[in-house]
Amino acid sequence: MKMLFGGIEAGGTKFVCGVSDEQLQIIERVSFPTTTPAETMAQVLTFFDQYQGQLQGIGVGSFGPIDIKENSATYGYITSTPKLPWQQYDFVGTLKAAYDLPIAWTTDVNAACYGEYVAGHGQGLESVIYYTIGTGVGGGAVVQGEFLAGFSHPEMGHMLMQPYPDDDFAGNCPFHGNCLEGLAAGPAIEKRLGVKAQTLAPKEPFWKIEADYLAQCVYNTTLMYAPEQIILGGGVMKQPQLLPLVKAAFLKKLQGYVAIPAIDEYLKTPALGDNAGLTGCLALAKKSADSPVSSTSVL
Ligand code: ADP
Ligand code: ZN
Repeated sequence: MKMLFGGIEAGGTKFVCGVSDEQLQIIERVSFPTTTPAETMAQVLTFFDQYQGQLQGIGVGSFGPIDIKENSATYGYITSTPKLPWQQYDFVGTLKAAYDLPIAWTTDVNAACYGEYVAGHGQGLESVIYYTIGTGVGGGAVVQGEFLAGFSHPEMGHMLMQPYPDDDFAGNCPFHGNCLEGLAAGPAIEKRLGVKAQTLAPKEPFWKIEADYLAQCVYNTTLMYAPEQIILGGGVMKQPQLLPLVKAAFLKKLQGYVAIPAIDEYLKTPALGDNAGLTGCLALAKKSADSPVSSTSVL
């Protein structure tokens, strides 16, 4: 019988579930909207029930904040999310009750980072940091196969920004105003300009402002962690003119202060595109099936 692995990319807008073989080749992939835990998880279980007996483990990359501390009473829960029906939801417990399998549990952006690390641009490197610039901004770091984590997972998307010269947009993060997410995520762009980011022309002057905020993020990340590679993903990065603008603004800010790897290798959009997250979940499922007791965080 074939050994299969399950992945759940649990996003605030939609869930993507998939099953792969040992080479992480995706055999089936389904997607449905994120509604209530009862409704959405029923769809998750219906999907994986088909593979009972073949599945060796399931990897979950979830929207958060989530509890990743293995000795915590609420390990495996989604915690203080603004999505009310999911607050204090026991995600891993629900899966464990249904399946006697190792369940890997991390943030959605950590999963995407891991996907790129094992099967995308990060292959062969030891340290990769991944940001998603979409409905929110999130960041995750993998160092030698483990996730960077401390008292909890990082919340890199909420780093504070220096306002772009004469930018009077206050930002829309309810906690911090002008953090990266509050200034540069898709909904912030929409609030600032009154149209969805995907409708803006490539020559729209705003992209220089967006690039400046992302360049500040890359600058901070470079000097904080000195990773071998930084990947910028998420819907907003589908604007092809954006990455070159970010590179130029970042190099200007850095002023040659540290010798980074060649910029085109250092700063990339994801090789796996929209499959980075699911691939990471599948790879984590495989890893947890291989070594169910190993921890997956460093610090
Ligand atoms: P999510 O964050 O929900 O997983 P996405 O990464 O697709 O999903 O992010 C959605 C956000 O990205 C929306 O705010 C949308 O306006 C923006 N977006 C999606 N596609 C594009 C595009 N081609 N160009 C610019 N912005 C985009
Ligand atoms: Zn914030």
